[in-house]
Amino acid sequence: MELLKVFKEPEEYKGTRYWNANLIKFEDKEYIVSDKAILTLVTVASCNAACKFCSNDITFHPNGKYMTFNDELKRVLDFSVLAGIKKVAFSGGEPTANPQKLYDLASNFIPAFSTSRIHTNGYGLMHEIKNKDDKSTILLKGLINLGLSGVTLSVAHFDTEINREIMRFNGRWKGLTESDIEEIVRVSGQDTSVRLSCVLTAKGIKTVDDIINYVKWGRSLGIKRFIFRSPSWIPSDFSKETQVTRYNRLNHVNIDPITNILDTHPDFKIKFTEHKTDSHVHVYTYDNEITIDIDASSEEPDPDIKIRRLIVMANQVPYTSWIDPYSYLFEEHKNIATQAAIKELPQLGVVT
Ligand code: SF4
Repeated sequence: MELLKVFKEPEEYKGTRYWNANLIKFEDKEYIVSDKAILTLVTVASCNAACKFCSNDITFHPNGKYMTFNDELKRVLDFSVLAGIKKVAFSGGEPTANPQKLYDLASNFIPAFSTSRIHTNGYGLMHEIKNKDDKSTILLKGLINLGLSGVTLSVAHFDTEINREIMRFNGRWKGLTESDIEEIVRVSGQDTSVRLSCVLTAKGIKTVDDIINYVKWGRSLGIKRFIFRSPSWIPSDFSKETQVTRYNRLNHVNIDPITNILDTHPDFKIKFTEHKTDSHVHVYTYDNEITIDIDASSEEPDPDIKIRRLIVMANQVPYTSWIDPYSYLFEEHKNIATQAAIKELPQLGVVT
């Protein structure tokens, strides 16, 4: 296993030009990995919410027990470190559904990456766990002590009732309260950034005024970073027709009219804009100290030879695309991939 080449400037290799990428040899096979790639661990497939827009319900999304560190994950970790992947993210389902298992898993990954982020609806962040020294602490503190650099909290609306209607929590816990968010900000301190994430939907946040009200509400709780995004567009070959598909189709919010207004709004300054084939990203500063992303993206099947993301699904198989069961990283997962495709996306057929 070795790092063979770093493509800093555009350079041709086997007929294709690469840059900002690393070429590695891993278990006798060559891989080219973007130096901006993110490793995402889908810690568990299930969730205590059933958000009306949740893409897990639309896409190939294999089940499995809560992820635990084992030889397979060690292999993915070794691959990621050799490939120079600098970011790790923990998502689900709901990663805090089992706080102790999340902590144990994270303790193997967070120290190996420059940045780490958890994407959560907040359910178990303040639950008690045992840390590496067998001392009791709350999950968030334990993760911060491991080096966690960011927490993204999913909240679909600042109005509690509307939020519950959209996120549809199961069980007694009904979503983050304002005092929960204030406490998360307090515990996170200066070094761990807390971001609120809101999916734009015609039944929830949908206009510039809604966005400004949401930001003012979050800011009053101590939040300085926000992301608003429309549900990802998924090509029909990779999409299941479910209630979520229909909801997203009927309630889609186009970000263009919103960003057109924000581009010239006196309280917003454009910080960064990027339009790529698969994503539109608009980053603003608001009132000088608040950062707001407004994003729209489309998911792509295994897009090119250069690996731009690595996702370990809850079945512990690493893939390079969220939506493509045939995008498995390691050849021996071909059978699992084929079974998943037959079961979940029969329109894809069997790829030999
Ligand atoms: S909280 Fe996230 S994983 Fe859970 S249902 Fe909502 S969007 Fe899906």
